Amino acid sequence: MTGGRQHHRQRSAAENDAFQRAVSEARDRHNLSDVAKLYTTLRKRGARELVGLCPFHSEKSPSFEVNDAKGVYYCHGCGVSGDAFKLLMEKGGLSFRQAFEALTGDAFPTVSDEERAKRKEDDARQLAERIALARSIWASSVHPAGTPAEVYARSRGIIMPLPETVRFVMTPRWRDAETGEVGRNHPAMACALQDAHGAIVGVQCVFLQDGGRRKYERIHADGSKAKAKLTFGVIVGSAFRIGPPSDHVVICEGPEDGLTLRQQLPDRTVWVACGTALMSRVSLPSTIRYITLAGDNGTAGQAAVDEATAAYMAGGVEVAAIFPDEGFKDWNDQLRGVRG
Ligand SMILES: [Zn+2]
Repeated sequence: MTGGRQHHRQRSAAENDAFQRAVSEARDRHNLSDVAKLYTTLRKRGARELVGLCPFHSEKSPSFEVNDAKGVYYCHGCGVSGDAFKLLMEKGGLSFRQAFEALTGDAFPTVSDEERAKRKEDDARQLAERIALARSIWASSVHPAGTPAEVYARSRGIIMPLPETVRFVMTPRWRDAETGEVGRNHPAMACALQDAHGAIVGVQCVFLQDGGRRKYERIHADGSKAKAKLTFGVIVGSAFRIGPPSDHVVICEGPEDGLTLRQQLPDRTVWVACGTALMSRVSLPSTIRYITLAGDNGTAGQAAVDEATAAYMAGGVEVAAIFPDEGFKDWNDQLRGVRG
């Protein structure tokens, strides 16, 4: 230590808010597709979506999607995802500051005020509809006692009383946003997703079969596996919370891991991001000062923890990371002694 100036001063909550605002303003000034054009050729698909060959992996047919409304990209081939900052940093080799300067300068065409206003309006309307749907699902859910949701939790080794953010629901596995058509009702464990203010803005449903003894399993006609988990409402930024408010939360990927961690660390509040790539995206109230990232083992789990560590530290939060013992894929596998 050289004394004098401190290099790792923590930002105050107000400074952090201003920082976050400046970052999202820099991001919103452009169509992400105009930035992505530096690295690949894109063609239109749908109103605000473009697709092209992935700049992160070698491929012959395009699986790299850019959504200008949301300002995010996603590759169906290699799984990379991110925003303009991440693209400029990971593909362009820029530092965060350089990316910020590129996005606030005149390197890329800017979106007109009109278009930005229209986009905000569309986004707000779609968001309100998604939240309303999630809340109607939550409103129709019941206490899990004696339901397949309880059977499922017990089958995963969760013997503690279930938190009030877990319920049982019968709800369709799919809905057509355009026609309003829905599938038939399926039993599910419903996990409430709360935003930074604690409002319920989403529900993650873990669909069940055999009275809750197993997760829902089906193979589609094209041979792909149907997803057992579906999230309704706001996915990015929200968290399935287990335990009382605290200035120290454990953040993990999935609901089974979250329940496991809370059972094993009963003094800790656990927040579930409900997605590997979402580990780094949970919106934190300014009251949170410490985070323990409870990752899954494996390359993807490690990468998610690394990304989340950087993201939360940039927001002035102290971060530590823990992983299951070697040989166990995740926390719930470890609890049940399932190796592999
Ligand atoms: Zn790719």
